[in-house]
Amino acid sequence: MTSTVRVRFAPSPTGHLHVGSAHTALFNWLFARHHRGAFILRIEDTDRSRSTDENIVAIVDALRWLGLDWDEGPPAPGYRQTERFAIYREHADRLLAAGRAYYCDCPPELLDRERHVAQQRGETFRYSGRCRDRGLGAGALRLRVPTEGATVVNDLINGPVTFEHGQLDDWILVRTDGTPTYNFCVVVDDVTMRISHVIRGNDHLSNTPKQILCYEALDYAVPEFAHVSMILGPDRSRLSKRHGATSVQAYRDAGIPADALVNYLARLGWSHGDQEIFSRVELVELFDIKDVASSGAVFDVTKLEWLSQHYLKTMDGGQLAELVEPFVRAAGLTPPADRERFVATLDTLRERAKTLVELVEQGRFYFERPSAYEPKAAQKLLTAEGARRLGLVIERLERAPEFTATAIERVVRALTEELGLKLVDIAQLARLAVTGRTASPPIFDVLALIGREESVARLRHAREVAERAA
Ligand code: GLU
Repeated sequence: MTSTVRVRFAPSPTGHLHVGSAHTALFNWLFARHHRGAFILRIEDTDRSRSTDENIVAIVDALRWLGLDWDEGPPAPGYRQTERFAIYREHADRLLAAGRAYYCDCPPELLDRERHVAQQRGETFRYSGRCRDRGLGAGALRLRVPTEGATVVNDLINGPVTFEHGQLDDWILVRTDGTPTYNFCVVVDDVTMRISHVIRGNDHLSNTPKQILCYEALDYAVPEFAHVSMILGPDRSRLSKRHGATSVQAYRDAGIPADALVNYLARLGWSHGDQEIFSRVELVELFDIKDVASSGAVFDVTKLEWLSQHYLKTMDGGQLAELVEPFVRAAGLTPPADRERFVATLDTLRERAKTLVELVEQGRFYFERPSAYEPKAAQKLLTAEGARRLGLVIERLERAPEFTATAIERVVRALTEELGLKLVDIAQLARLAVTGRTASPPIFDVLALIGREESVARLRHAREVAERAA
C-alpha cells in the first residue's frame, strides 16, 4: 500500500472543529503517515448559507494547533468545493452523455406530495423514476440507479454492509438551479483527488452506496471505505453541546496541551494492548485501521485531564514555558524575562496542574503581588507576634549570604531554633506573606524564585498589615 495511500479530511465549515471531526482527521492523518501516503484537506463549503470564511480559518487553525499537517489543501487553490464547480459540471455532462443520468422536471409540489404520502405510510420517500425515459433536456439531473440487486460496502472497520437497490432511488446529482449536491461533489472530489481510502464518520455510511453507484456510473475505481464510529457522551448518545465543550478550540482555551488531546483522541476507539500514553512517533508507527473498534467510544473529560496532567508533568521545560506564556498573558500577567527562571518557576507548578489555565492560576503569585491574604489564615497569623516574627525573617533574609532555596532554608531553620519554634510556624507565615495563600509549592523554592528584593518587599507589606491589625 506504501505511497499509493491518499486520504482526505473534508470538513464542512459550518462551525468550529468538533472533537468528533478532529478524531476523524487524526485517524486519516495517522493512516497517511503510517503508510507514507498523502493527507489532503478539502473544504466542503457548497452549503453557502451555513459555511463561513471565519469557520474555515478556525478549522485550519485548530488542525495546525493539533499538529495535523496536510500535504495538499488550502491555502493552495482548488481545495474548496466552491472553486470546483466547473469540474462537477464536466462530470455531470459525462454522466448525461453516457445515459447514466437524466433530467427530471417533476415540480417540487408533486414531489412534496409524494414525500408526504410516503411519510404517512411510515415509509422513506423514494423518487418514482417518472422522468427516467422522457429524454428531457433540462431540470434536475438524477443518477440512474439499478432497480435490482444490491451494493455492498466492504468497510474496513464495520465489515461488509449490504444496501438493496430497492431501498435507494435515482438521487439528484445537480439541482435545477445548477448547483451540485453534496454526494455528487464528494464523489467527483474523491475521484479527481485520487483518494485511495475514505475514512470518515459513520454518519456517512448510508451515503456510501449512493456514492459507490456514482463511481461505477463514471467508470471509476471505488476507493476503500472506513467509517469511524461517532464519539458519545456519558449517556451514550452522540456527543453534543449539552454534554459540555465539543470544540477543539474550547479544549485549547482551557489549556489542554495539543499532544494530550491527540493522545486522548487516538485512544478513542483505537487501542494497542493496554498502553495509554503514546508519543506521536509511536502513534504513527502503531496505528492500524484494523484495530479501530466499530462501537462508539465515550468522551471522558477526566481521562483527558489525566493525560493533560501527564504531559504537563513530563514535557520539556522550555516547551512548557512556550505553551504557558500566552496563558500567563491572557491572565493579565507578565512572565519573567529571564527564561531560565521562568522554567524553574514552572517546575514548581507542573506536578499539580491539570491544565495550563490551572497552572497559571496556581502560580499567579509568582507574577504579581498577592492582592489579599486568605482571611482565616491572616486572622491567625498576622498578629503582633506575627509582625515580630516577620521582622526577624526580613532581617535574616536581607543579610543572608546568598538567596538560593538551600541558603534560605538554612537561615530560617536557624531562626526557628533560636525562637524555640517549629519550622512550620515561620514557613506558613512567610507563605501567607509572599503568596497570599496557605498552600503553595515549597516555600523556600518560592522565595528563591521570587528573589530577595521582591520577597522582602512582600514580607514587609505583610508585617505592616499585621501591625495594623494588632
Ligand atoms: N463534509 C462532511 C462532514 O463534514 C464529510 C464528508 C466526507 O468525509 O465524505 O461531515
